[in-house]
Parts: sequence; C-alpha cells; structure tokens
Amino acid sequence: MRVFKFGGASVKDADGVRNLVEVLKETGHQNTFLVVSAMGKMTNAMEVVVKAYFDERVGLEKAFEEVFLYHEAIMNALFTNKEHSVYKIVNLLFEEVQGFLTWNKSPNYSFVYDQVVGYGELISTTIVSKYLNEVGIENYWLDIRDYIKTDNNYRDGRVNWEKTQKLIAEGIEKNKLYITQGFLASDDNNFTTTLGREGSDYTAAIVAYCLNANSVTIWKDVPGVLNADPRYFKEARLLNKISYREAIELAFYGASVIHPKTLQPLQRKEIPLHVKSFIQPKDSGTTVAKGIGIEPEIPCFIVKKNQVLMKLSSLDFSFIVEDSIGDLFKLLHDYKMKVDLIQNSAISFSVCVDNKYNRLSDLLNQLSGKFNVVCHEDVSLYTIRHFDADSIKSLQNGREVLLEQRGKETLQLVVKQ
Ligand code: ADP
Ligand code: ASP
Ligand code: MG
Repeated sequence: MRVFKFGGASVKDADGVRNLVEVLKETGHQNTFLVVSAMGKMTNAMEVVVKAYFDERVGLEKAFEEVFLYHEAIMNALFTNKEHSVYKIVNLLFEEVQGFLTWNKSPNYSFVYDQVVGYGELISTTIVSKYLNEVGIENYWLDIRDYIKTDNNYRDGRVNWEKTQKLIAEGIEKNKLYITQGFLASDDNNFTTTLGREGSDYTAAIVAYCLNANSVTIWKDVPGVLNADPRYFKEARLLNKISYREAIELAFYGASVIHPKTLQPLQRKEIPLHVKSFIQPKDSGTTVAKGIGIEPEIPCFIVKKNQVLMKLSSLDFSFIVEDSIGDLFKLLHDYKMKVDLIQNSAISFSVCVDNKYNRLSDLLNQLSGKFNVVCHEDVSLYTIRHFDADSIKSLQNGREVLLEQRGKETLQLVVKQ
C-alpha cells in the first residue's frame, strides 16, 4: 500500500482537482490511500468562521458564505449535472456545521474550533471523491475520525497509537483506492480533534505507519525539498536525497515543506517519504530515507518570520540557574510559546519564541515581576544547516543581528525583519 498526500495548494481550484486525477493516472491508483487537505486556504477561512462565532457572531454569515461560494465555484466547474449528489452532500455538511454552532453551549474556543474547522477537509474529500467517480476512478471515501484516535487536547491532539493502529489494521483492505481527510481525528467521546495546523502530512505518516505502507508521497507545488524556501531565497536548489535525521532537523528548525511530526513514525518503520511536484509528477523529487546524509551536500537555509526575542536578566544580579529556568519554561509551556532558541549566561537568558497563540502580553506580565525583560517583536530567525563562510556572509548582508548561536552543524541568527 502507498500513501499519497495532496495538500491545500494541490486542490485549490477545479484545475487542481483535475490535475490530481492526472497524477493518479500517471502513477496508477491501486493500493493507494489518498489523504487530502482542505482546498486552498479554506482552513484559514474556517478559522474566520470560528472567530466570528466567538465575536458574538458578528460577520458569521459572511464568513460562511465565503467558504460556501468557494466550494460552489469548484463544484460548478467540475460537475455539469447540477442534480449531482455532491451538491446534496456538501449542503448537508454545511447544515451540520451550522447546526453545531446553533446548539453549541461550550465556551471552549479550541473545542469549538476543532468541531468547525475540520469541515474544510470533509468538504474537499467529498468533492474529490465524487469527481474521481465521475471520471471512472472507483474509490472509497473514509471518515478518518473513525480511525485516528487522539486525546482531547483540542487543536493539537495527541495520537493514541494503540487504538489507531487497531482501527486501521482492522478497517482498511488492501488493493483499493481510499480517500480520506488529513488533519482530523477524534477523541474518546467521538468529538472531532485536529492534529495542529498543517497536520495533514502527519496524517499521511500515521496511516502509513499503521498500514505498514511501502512509501508516502506528499505532492507539493515545489519540485521537492529545496535547500531553502523559494519564496524567500531566489536560488533555492533541489535536495535529491536526505536522511530521516536531516529531514527531522530541517522540519524542526522550520522548513515548512514537511510538518515536523511527520518523520518520526516513518523513520521508526523505515518507510521512505517522497516529496514530489504535482505539476511535474514524473520528476524524481526528494526522497527521505535511511542512511544517506544529504545530497547534494550544500548549506540549507530556513527562515521563521514574526518571532519574538526576549532577553531576560535577574532583578538583583542573582544567577539564572535551574530553578528560575524551570519556572521560566513552565510559563512558556503554560502560554503555549514554542521555543525556537535559547542562550544563557550567568545572569541573563535569551529565548526566541513563536507567539502562535498571541499570548505574549499575558506572558510578559508574568515575567516582568520576576525578571528585567527586553522584548523584540517581529524578528526573524534564520537557521543555516551545514553552514560555511559564504552562506553566513550572504545571510548577514547588512542585517542587524540581535543574537547568534553556532553549533557544529547549525548556525542560527536572530535578526530584525
Ligand atoms: P501543502 O499544499 O501541502 O499544504 P505547503 O504550502 O504546506 O503545501 O508546503 C509547500 C510550500 O513550502 C512551498 O510552496 C514553499 O514555499 C514552502 N517551503 C518552505 N521551505 C521549503 C523548502 N525547504 N523546500 C521546499 N519548499 C519549502
Ligand atoms: N488544512 C489544514 C491546514 O491548513 C491541514 C493541512 O493542510 O495540512 O492547516
Ligand atoms: Mg500545508
């Protein structure tokens, strides 16, 4: 069995869905498990729905309308018969999510988020599955929430591997073409949970692990894993092969082409991961597999924008040691700040964090009672794996460097944007 993952960019419009069919024709589609994300930027659009709901429903209808019209345009372009069952099913999904928001009593933002946002994936997989039928490709639509079980840590569900493995092993037959949603799972009470933004790559890895799949292919709008994000680096080059370890490092430092959680399950069973272009499906792309370091051996650049650098020092010149560092990390954890980099001396401690959940001012309130805090918002964190003199020079290039950290293989710079 092979697992294919098609992300939002690959199914952002009707042409994208038609192209997905071309990719399947090119690669064959027996023994294949398709994991598909929400179309285009529909997860962001569903986040607007949730926000409007909590803002006393101001703009709720408009937010829903945007999601509805986007999918309707794609369906109109794909299905000539306006009586096609796809319209009915998609309408029912809209009624379901609107019904949920009508009756919901829970004030828990993350819970409501997960019950609502996942409709992006439920709708996209319905449309793609029906279109595959339409062009004569028989396929089986699965609700992944019946197979992947997590705890109830909404918006970042932690997989219950034992249950998930049992459900997948028992429920999936080989020799078929399946299609299901990325990003979604469910908890013990069968409420929807999500695996964190961009989590569909991880879904593909979970399914592959549980099926003992031969390979996973994630189809992207880039030729594969490049040595830098082509949006920020003009001369990014394709990496042909990389080891799991190297890929985990790149993803960890923020190479957003692969979700960081994706690699561990694959590495444990030595399942190769292919990252390929959905525009040039015949090209070999990148293979992540056992052993090989990185080929070609060139410096890799990773940039994370909109980070926060906090420089803390003790109020009374006392050392910042285990207990205060422990308190500090507890606070960072409580405020869901993802730590990207730390550096410490006797009386100072610098930490670069990702303020994903916008809780910086609450955190700063807590910290200012305990430390002197200097905070730089909107900084960029650059990482170079396998750095050399030229690559460092090209990054520094007139930028104001706020912090530098150098290891054997990795150099990190925090700079003003
Ligand atoms: P998906 O449609 O699967 O969600 P993403 O948008 O998450 O795809 O990932 C593809 C994007 O990742 C590319 O368009 C590219 O801008 C970005 N990217 C970041 N780092 C890299 C890298 N090292 N190599 C290739 N692409 C990268
Ligand atoms: N649709 C989800 C998101 O945009 C999951 C994914 O695409 O990986 O975050
Ligand atoms: Mg993505």
